[in-house]
Amino acid sequence: MAAEQRKLLEQLMGGPQTSRAAQLSLTDPKVCRSFLVGTCPHDLFTNTKKDVGPCPKVHAESLKTEYEALPESAKQKYGFEHDYLRDLQKYIDECNRWIETAQTPPRETPDEIRQTNVLLKTISELTPPSTAAWPRSRSSATWARSRAPTRKSQ
Ligand SMILES: [Zn+2]
Repeated sequence: MAAEQRKLLEQLMGGPQTSRAAQLSLTDPKVCRSFLVGTCPHDLFTNTKKDVGPCPKVHAESLKTEYEALPESAKQKYGFEHDYLRDLQKYIDECNRWIETAQTPPRETPDEIRQTNVLLKTISELTPPSTAAWPRSRSSATWARSRAPTRKSQ
């Protein structure tokens, strides 16, 4: 890429952020620590149902590079990774709750229950006389299964 184009692109993409980041230190509360250590959860869920919107903190490649260059002891002193894991656990818990909720079948509304009862009544009226005397507690599904040809008979 031509130098001129690169300069223009930098101005468009990272210009303001880069100049903002230049004034920030690793420990500045405006700096996104998740981004420094790994991946910011805000970037993780982009364009999904769990999209949490853009991160309000600064994502600066320059600071990430600075952090990555630190010796392990210095990284541990900052404790960013510990916080990162704690934050991620929070997101994992939230996702698990969300999945649980999504998998719980919706409760039937009174209208749906009425319609179901009408259908069950219709089905029971269609039931051949020989099986019509079956206990009412047997669901239509059980009846349908019992009517289906078994593998043994094939
Ligand atoms: Zn972030």
